[in-house]
Amino acid sequence: MALELTGVARRYGDVRAVDGVDLTVPDGRTVALLGPSGCGKSTLLRLVAGLEPPDAGRIALDGRDLAGVPPQDRNVGMVFQDYALFPHLSVADNVAFGLVERRWSTERRRARVAELVERMGLTGTEGRRPHELSGGQQQRVALARALAPRPSLLLLDEPLSNLDRTLRDDLTRDLARLLSGLEVRAIHVTHDQDEAFRLADRVALMREGRIVQEGTPDRVVEEPRDAWAVRFLGLRELVPPTAARALGFDGPVLLRTERFVPAVDGQPFEVREAVRIGPEFELTLFAPAWGFDLRWRVRPRELGHDPRVGDVLHLAVPDAAWTPLGVPA
Ligand code: ADP
Repeated sequence: MALELTGVARRYGDVRAVDGVDLTVPDGRTVALLGPSGCGKSTLLRLVAGLEPPDAGRIALDGRDLAGVPPQDRNVGMVFQDYALFPHLSVADNVAFGLVERRWSTERRRARVAELVERMGLTGTEGRRPHELSGGQQQRVALARALAPRPSLLLLDEPLSNLDRTLRDDLTRDLARLLSGLEVRAIHVTHDQDEAFRLADRVALMREGRIVQEGTPDRVVEEPRDAWAVRFLGLRELVPPTAARALGFDGPVLLRTERFVPAVDGQPFEVREAVRIGPEFELTLFAPAWGFDLRWRVRPRELGHDPRVGDVLHLAVPDAAWTPLGVPA
């Protein structure tokens, strides 16, 4: 069983916000929809939620065509960017909200709220209002509210994007743990690569209304489809096109510097910048033989000393470090 999108499109005047999307989200999987601001992620989520209709294409959940099905009848839970908790309602009433709408009996409602409050680690906060909670607790209330009616699909619209970096890292971990224990299908919209890779089993890269690549996080990083994907993923390993041509490649190529190994008979590289990042150094190296700069990360003990600007390092570059990309830029 799955959520299946086929040829889904939505335009606003001349803007093709969503431009023919095919995507499948299997049971128990989290797919991160990753793309720059304005590429159509939120629009796609709204179409799936039924908040607006597509102009073309089909959206089916577990084989059922959702065309014309109103949002409340889609069995889809949503967590918004700002959580959109009801400020005047207690935690328990926020969590119960969808159950009241669906006319669950008081007894069933109480039991379900208690179960979620416990599961989300919110015990003791039931009577509080949202403003009396931490950011992390608010996030969990929003998640509990979305999960309460047992949706068969969870939509997360940049739920972490308004937070500062430290809190965000903590909450990403929390959310990853919660999602992996829930076995619920989820689409997680984000423009943040780290978040997508930590939370999702699969990543769909979206650009200008289209999904340009979809796969496991490893696969997407190992085999980015084109130069745009490389830049967007921040891989910083793309060989400058003129240098690539000079080296005999007829399309874009990545140089995987993590495959470089120090070796006395290796090729010389000049250290142009050395920045310590935790236990490692990130070096900007100039390769005289190739005529371009590249980045390489290394632990001082691999070199036997702390690298300094001006040093010349000898590194073996295995053939496998060169990865031509399938599609020309
Ligand atoms: P993202 O979520 O990736 O930032 P959006 O889905 O919000 O992207 O927007 C995709 C494109 O559609 C943008 O160019 C945006 O300006 C446009 N757009 C989105 N919603 C509307 C709307 N209600 N009316 C007009 N244009 C819209």
